[in-house]
Amino acid sequence: MKNPAYPSWIRTTFWILTLLVVSACSQDELEGLLENGSETEEPLENPNPENPDDDATENDNGNELPAGSVTLADNLILDKDHRFVNYILPQSEYQKFLEDQADFKAVTKTIYTHLDDVYDFVFILAVAEDQPENLGYYGINHTVQNPTQGLGGNVYDNTAAYGSKGRLKSVLFMPRTEYVKSGPFLHEIAHYWANHGFIETTVWGHWGYASTGGQLGGFDEFVTLENGSYQGKMEGQNGFGTFANGGNSVPYSNVELYMMGLIGPDELESIQVAQNPKPGNQFGQFTADGFTTLTAQDLIAEHGPRIPDHTQAQKEFTALAIIVSPEALSTEKLDQVNTDLENFARPAQVDASWGNTYNFWMATAQKATLKVDIHQLVD
Ligand SMILES: [Zn+2]
Repeated sequence: MKNPAYPSWIRTTFWILTLLVVSACSQDELEGLLENGSETEEPLENPNPENPDDDATENDNGNELPAGSVTLADNLILDKDHRFVNYILPQSEYQKFLEDQADFKAVTKTIYTHLDDVYDFVFILAVAEDQPENLGYYGINHTVQNPTQGLGGNVYDNTAAYGSKGRLKSVLFMPRTEYVKSGPFLHEIAHYWANHGFIETTVWGHWGYASTGGQLGGFDEFVTLENGSYQGKMEGQNGFGTFANGGNSVPYSNVELYMMGLIGPDELESIQVAQNPKPGNQFGQFTADGFTTLTAQDLIAEHGPRIPDHTQAQKEFTALAIIVSPEALSTEKLDQVNTDLENFARPAQVDASWGNTYNFWMATAQKATLKVDIHQLVD
């Protein structure tokens, strides 16, 4: 299941695309450490849900919804395959998602009045046609709790602030539904576990200049050049990202699988971390004062063992997908979102239309599953 090498222009394009991801997608650390008790919430919808109706029904515009759709509230519609909810917002509220002003806690609190608190992840997707100019990131992960020891971060539980009784792990937002397929979807999910200080990095929240080559950046090999200069590579090609490696085109790496609880310490490979790294002039080149090698024993000595370990760690995850939009989704959009979420979540190979793109199961080396569907409603 090795990806064939991508032409360099694709890698470079991905690299440029993912540049924007870096700055904001690790607010999760702050999110976990700073309890914000003063936040005000704006009610976004009628708190009284209508009775779920399994028959074909009409939305506000009088358009007939596909059979099987369920109207949970006037502005909250469960799609016919029960894979996601469409949360229809006034334009002014919707716009906040595209300007980094959205209140994600208010969204989950509202949703939990209609749907059971049985999801590990909440994925919120907006329907921007292009990357919003004022957003500054392609995706963001707000970690809600960290119950896992040995990963470098603090243990905390901020679930109550999101209206969850302890189940919710993180809330992830991407402004375009197309990013389910292209990425940074796999990347943002990885932020639930890393990098919260597991290895030293100059690229906060990510791997930086280290032999970690995976969803959160790093290279899988390097070549020593002259004058303390190095060329990092990924999958045989010159170049790598210090915070990401081409969207969903690469799987989770060895250390990422360890962080996720999918392999044990006996399988964790040594990591070479560049000391005092500085970017060079060519893609993937950098200068450094040599490398520090961290073995699995070194990392466990520093952070303690992963608790729970890989034999006990959760491997079957559930997720709730919420599509926010200023009007009800078109049939075409419903079909596209449904196809992409189904491909991403299926415990099997993706459709040919997805090309060499990894879904969650493939990216985890078939060691974990992610179920994106909604079948439990609040009574
Ligand atoms: Zn990131």
